[in-house]
Amino acid sequence: MPQVDFSDTKIAFADKSLAELRRSHLLFSLMNYPWLVKAGTRLATLALQLRLPVEGLVKATIYRQFCGGENIEEARKVIDRLGDSNIKTILDYGVEGKESEADFDRTANYLSRTLEYAREDEDIHIISTKLSGLFRFELLEQVSGGSPLSEAEQEEYERGKARVDRICKAAFESGIGVHVDAEHSWIQGAVDEIAWEMSRRYNKGLPTVINAVQLYRKGRLQFLKDSLADAREHGYLCAVKLVRGAYMEKERERAREMGYPSPIHESLQDTHRAYNEGLKFCIGHIGEVYVCNATHNEESCRYQAELMDKQGLEPGHPLVATAQLYGMSDNLSYNMAKAGFNVEKYLPYGPVREVIPYLIRRTQENTSVEGQMSRELQLISKELKRRREER
Ligand SMILES: Cc1cc2nc3c(=O)[nH]c(=O)nc-3n(C[C@H](O)[C@H](O)[C@H](O)COP(=O)(O)OP(=O)(O)OC[C@H]3O[C@@H](n4cnc5c(N)ncnc54)[C@H](O)[C@@H]3O)c2cc1C
Repeated sequence: MPQVDFSDTKIAFADKSLAELRRSHLLFSLMNYPWLVKAGTRLATLALQLRLPVEGLVKATIYRQFCGGENIEEARKVIDRLGDSNIKTILDYGVEGKESEADFDRTANYLSRTLEYAREDEDIHIISTKLSGLFRFELLEQVSGGSPLSEAEQEEYERGKARVDRICKAAFESGIGVHVDAEHSWIQGAVDEIAWEMSRRYNKGLPTVINAVQLYRKGRLQFLKDSLADAREHGYLCAVKLVRGAYMEKERERAREMGYPSPIHESLQDTHRAYNEGLKFCIGHIGEVYVCNATHNEESCRYQAELMDKQGLEPGHPLVATAQLYGMSDNLSYNMAKAGFNVEKYLPYGPVREVIPYLIRRTQENTSVEGQMSRELQLISKELKRRREER
């Protein structure tokens, strides 16, 4: 098994110019101040609501760090560049928070166009989707909570499923995977149900429908086991993307407000433990399971390599991948790719105004915790220092 040196910033940033690194350094330095992130988030949201022309500013700064472009053609340069380092792209049409049937149809059409594009390009082999972009959120919530649907609601639900089916069928016919993102726990019941239904139809040996499992939630190890049991019963490949989970604050807040026990593990250590168990379970069942280790945690990448080694799997085994978000944790992506592992970058694209919720989550994730420099800022600072000393 090749040794992976995650601290090698020379490899991690080999395709970044000095100017690009300096720009990223400035951006992550600003994000390091929680008060600035809070104020900036409010100002940007307000400016966009008031239709003030701030898109140019957002695009030249934070958008450029985390997104590919306003359309697929614009994202092309980034996809090619990742491809040059043996990193595949998970293309995500990053629009969120829509509410009308017309919006859902538009999103489904964009996803179909993304698929057509992916079919022509070997560097894009997965697209990503949030089912809340294809269904009304409240409807998913109703289904998840077990509330009976009226006839009209049932029809609406079937229309949503037809949109998902159209995308999964086209993906299956083109040999492309579809990540079904995990969202808030109170809609996840419906998301899982739909993902299983599509998996039964399309995961015939290849990972077409890849359902995300959030291991910051209690009981998700059992859900993983249930997923494999369903795959065995119906004779399909159980394909999962493991994540810790991105909605912790909201989950805890809702549980507090509504007076039910928090669905999130009590401590970070418990989440890490569950994540490790999940990864071990999946890699232990490779062949019946496909797993994408979607994380920015260095230990989780190291653990993946260790488990694969123990199991006698080649780094490039087709049923194991790791993925990071574009603009983050290049030390993991580029060094894993260099060592021969299957690596993917999650690359959102779409109009600046539409990807703001995604960008806000990224700024919050990169804000300093108790005065420490963020993970990204430390890495970029290290590389800038290395280049200065090299000159
Ligand atoms: C390619 C990719 C795809 C993703 N897709 C999804 C998705 O579909 N759905 C989704 O929800 N997220 C998704 N994420 C985000 C992911 O869930 C995490 O929020 C993010 O990557 C940070 O987790 P990490 O594994 O990098 O771990 P770390 O940075 O080591 O851990 C941070 C995570 O641990 C958990 N945590 C932190 N503090 C506590 C605490 N006190 N108690 C319990 N748990 C705690 C939280 O989940 C937090 O995000 C994705 C991430 C990547 C890289």
